[in-house]
Amino acid sequence: MQYCLFCKIINKEIKSDIVYENDDVLIFKDINPRAPVHLLAVPKKHIDSIVDIDKLASGEVYALMTSISKIAKELGLTDSGFRVVANTGNAAGQAVNHLHFHILGKRNFNWPPG
Ligand code: 5GP
Ligand code: ZN
Repeated sequence: MQYCLFCKIINKEIKSDIVYENDDVLIFKDINPRAPVHLLAVPKKHIDSIVDIDKLASGEVYALMTSISKIAKELGLTDSGFRVVANTGNAAGQAVNHLHFHILGKRNFNWPPG
């Protein structure tokens, strides 16, 4: 596979501020936070984007989604609300081609997003 920044973060070749980890999932702080809470939730198995979600096992998808829920609850995001975003492809500005869900919280968000 070509160089993948998030695979290197998962493999601990590049340092990150990890908030949650299990066998299938890593959640770490975004290096350029756009909200008081801004995390990235990634599957440890590399897929480029949600377009390829069928390349993950159902258990890996379940682990990813439930880890987002778990962390949102633990960080107290659920009462006020929060946003989960998967930028996909050029038009959405996806910069890193390893599936990641942004978890943004602790401020208000506009809709529709820019
Ligand atoms: P995208 O634009 O692909 O949806 O989001 C990529 C995100 O990765 C951006 O929010 C960016 O700040 C974050 N990011 C880029 N490089 C690094 C890095 O080296 N470490 C961490 N923790 N986040 C990064
Ligand atoms: Zn990767």
